[in-house]
Amino acid sequence: MSVPKIVILGAGYGGLMTAKGLAKELKSNEAEITLVNQNSYHYVTTELHKPAAGTSHHDHARLSIPSVINTKRIHFIQDRVTAIKLEEKEVQLENNEALKYDYLVIGLGSAPETFGIKGLLENAFFIRNIASVRTIREHMEYMFSRYANEKKEELITIVVGGAGFTGIEYVGELVDRMPELCRDYDIPLEKVRIINVEAAPTVLPGFDKELVDYAVKYLESKGVEFLISTPIEECTEDGVILKGGQEIKAATVVWTGGVRGNKLVEESGIETMRGRVKVDETLRAPGFDNVFVIGDSSLVFNEDERPYPPTAQISTQQGQYLGKNLAALLRGEEMKPFKYMPKGTVASLGRKEAIGVVGNKKLKGGAAAFMKKVIDLRWFYLLGGFSLVLRKGKL
Ligand code: FAD
Repeated sequence: MSVPKIVILGAGYGGLMTAKGLAKELKSNEAEITLVNQNSYHYVTTELHKPAAGTSHHDHARLSIPSVINTKRIHFIQDRVTAIKLEEKEVQLENNEALKYDYLVIGLGSAPETFGIKGLLENAFFIRNIASVRTIREHMEYMFSRYANEKKEELITIVVGGAGFTGIEYVGELVDRMPELCRDYDIPLEKVRIINVEAAPTVLPGFDKELVDYAVKYLESKGVEFLISTPIEECTEDGVILKGGQEIKAATVVWTGGVRGNKLVEESGIETMRGRVKVDETLRAPGFDNVFVIGDSSLVFNEDERPYPPTAQISTQQGQYLGKNLAALLRGEEMKPFKYMPKGTVASLGRKEAIGVVGNKKLKGGAAAFMKKVIDLRWFYLLGGFSLVLRKGKL
């Protein structure tokens, strides 16, 4: 007798948690579980700003997928999804035959949101995956090496577009990296410019003001320049042009200003808002009883009808929820509604500094940095228990 086929797309926070949960809940005669991911490894997205700045090696931000799943229960396919065919109930892959499914879980993450800024996709860098952060680091180092010969200031000017979570965390890492990088290339530290440009009227919009002030003061004390309420209008080969026409010449422009859903989801015909799917209370896509969308590809609204920001935290909780509740559905039970339980937010400002709110407690400085480390380690614990924490814990 054939068993229901569950196909999970993407081994990010949401996809991995779903796969692990289903493998734990369901016996092999209850469902066939397949996980598809374009790389053989999972990248720890919340750590990518570190290798992008060069404060840690990119291998610290990735994990072999077969090493963290039960490969006897989960059939892992390393391949790129090229199309989702909802009517045919199949997924097309680049190098393998199309995959048929009875239940589909989409956890393909996000893509950069450029807000139509001219030249951004062509000329800026994006903190997206292992390959992209390796490129950023190598590009930045090459520009610094050229400065020794050419002495052009733009070679050691770095513009970071967006002062949200990713932007601030990346700027914090750059601050940590600069002394060593400048020593390596014989560049006086004070010559380097790190400019964080943000269109909104504040750094970290929506975050506690006292903590934002702390972060800005700390980063400014390390030489970071903030341009707030300053939209970037164009990104060129030479740098950025701001609203009003001012040009900043910079050899390295890194855009962190926002994300939208993966375009495969839009192309599948599911209704989306900026590429993200407004899922129902059981994380189903509208109009498709057998299709679930999780992580950055999904949109979940709070009681005030405002969408929760896309985070690893909500993606992980959605995966944990679906592991249990999809198993229940297969057994003919009711799915409970998904309820997001925010546990707090901590933004790092380099290795030893951070700001955050956990429960109703505000944290800053070393205490927040410690909490950030605990949060990072929790992800390894969820994936591979204490042994993985010990193996990857030096992050
Ligand atoms: P992802 O983790 O993005 O995984 C998607 C997976 O799908 C990837 O493995 C990808 O390779 C795969 N994939 C994509 N397209 C295809 C395809 N066509 N075929 C096959 N596979 C494909 N959130 C927090 O909660 N706390 C933080 O501190 C935090 N810090 C962050 C710092 C940075 C620098 C960044 C960039 C993000 C940060 N976030 C943080 C946000 C968080 O990382 C994302 O919300 C989270 O990764 C989303 O998880 P996901 O499961 O939706 O997708």
